[in-house]
Amino acid sequence: MLVAVVGSGPSGFYAVEALLKSGLEVRVNLIEKLPAPFGLVRYGVAPDHPKLKQVSLVFHKIAQHPHVQFYGNVELGQDVSLSDLQETHHAVVLCYGAERDRRLGIAGEDLPGSHTATEFVAWYNGHPAYRDSSFDLSSRAAVIVGHGNVAADVCRILAKPVEALRQTDIAKHALEALAESRVREIHLVGRRGPAQAKFTSKELRELGELPDCVATVEGDSLRLGPEDETELAEKTNDNAAKCYQIFKQLGRSGDGSARRRIHFHFLLSPLSLNGKGRLESLTFTRNSLVGSAFEQHAEATKETIDIACGLCFRSIGYRGEPLPDVPFEERRGVVPNEAGRVRQGLYVSGWIKRGPSGIIGTNRADSVETIATLLGDVQHLGKDGASSKASFAGLVSAKRLHPISYDQWRLIDSAETQQGEKSGKPREKITSVDQMLAIAG
Ligand code: NAP
Repeated sequence: MLVAVVGSGPSGFYAVEALLKSGLEVRVNLIEKLPAPFGLVRYGVAPDHPKLKQVSLVFHKIAQHPHVQFYGNVELGQDVSLSDLQETHHAVVLCYGAERDRRLGIAGEDLPGSHTATEFVAWYNGHPAYRDSSFDLSSRAAVIVGHGNVAADVCRILAKPVEALRQTDIAKHALEALAESRVREIHLVGRRGPAQAKFTSKELRELGELPDCVATVEGDSLRLGPEDETELAEKTNDNAAKCYQIFKQLGRSGDGSARRRIHFHFLLSPLSLNGKGRLESLTFTRNSLVGSAFEQHAEATKETIDIACGLCFRSIGYRGEPLPDVPFEERRGVVPNEAGRVRQGLYVSGWIKRGPSGIIGTNRADSVETIATLLGDVQHLGKDGASSKASFAGLVSAKRLHPISYDQWRLIDSAETQQGEKSGKPREKITSVDQMLAIAG
């Protein structure tokens, strides 16, 4: 059976792995729009978290399986259509993630100085589409809206001494800009309380342990309501209980001599971003929590507060993109599916299936479920064998595309590692697609 997997991030690779382990006689074409594989592992995971990137060694092994063919630099919707894939494969598994940012929908959101966290993350990770982005880091105060792990990553990159980033795989342009950064006060603002923050405790703890930086909790916001107490007492919610304990410890710290300071704010929703021609401040409404335990949502009071800042990152989650001929649920930004099946022959896995949640490993179980669903349909899909389908390689060549094979990617990979060695980095990412293609020959 011939299967196309679209997207070579974690969910894509885990889908390929599940197909190879299924016992089915299968050949997989793994299609990726960039010349480089690994998706969010390469372009999302923070450079100072190299352990999380080690999973790419597993992906590397999968890519080298003789029944797997990598097609980098081939974009679905641009270079090939869904019907091209369906004519050349028995099944298509979409694993293209959720790349779009969610919007606050308030005044001033697009003022210069206001950015999405997605853009900043992609920029410091050397994503080709964001290499020309620029961030004015000359202001003393920055605000990050959102209390999730992406906000924690952005905060850490702003708060860490640049020396601590020099030997990571952070993009060169980002390192140079961060070396000149004048950001000293970083405000991490959540719309709900300390019991509802979405950080994982490990990431939150790290924010309290950064060199030459102190993290504090603003105001009297660690008081818990009865619903919060119920939430924190629930065994399955032990991450939130751990985070709460960390917030309590942070609340007590306060070394005035630190170079940088992280301020955690709770129960504040952005109302507007203000400034004449560029960002000067954010106005927030103070919230109270309404609803029963685990259903508590933020409700605005009449009180507002302003935080002066010249830089803001909106870190309120990602959204998937619709594709022609594929159903799409606009509200959640996902492709509607049942256990991964969109319709017979078309499947989804990862963030485009369930929304932007979980850690890298969450995608393994997700892809296993999707492939189990595909296997349940197998008698309707691949009865006629590979010869019943037009050749995908033939189609790619007829369209005069320039796909990058896995061996060609390895040339780019070794050019990056060699370049990185010169400055003590694990790699110096090549951020230009043209340059990658030139190296790949
Ligand atoms: P997230 O965990 O869903 O956090 C989004 C944050 O934005 C929440 O605090 C949410 O508050 C807030 N928010 C949403 N809409 C808002 C609005 N209109 N106004 C104000 N605040 C709003 O999303 P994420 O940080 O983008 O992370 C995505 C996934 O990647 C998560 O599963 C995360 O754990 C994972 N990730 C993991 C790592 C790691 O393991 N190191 C690193 C990065 C990302 P509410 O709770 O009130 O909705």
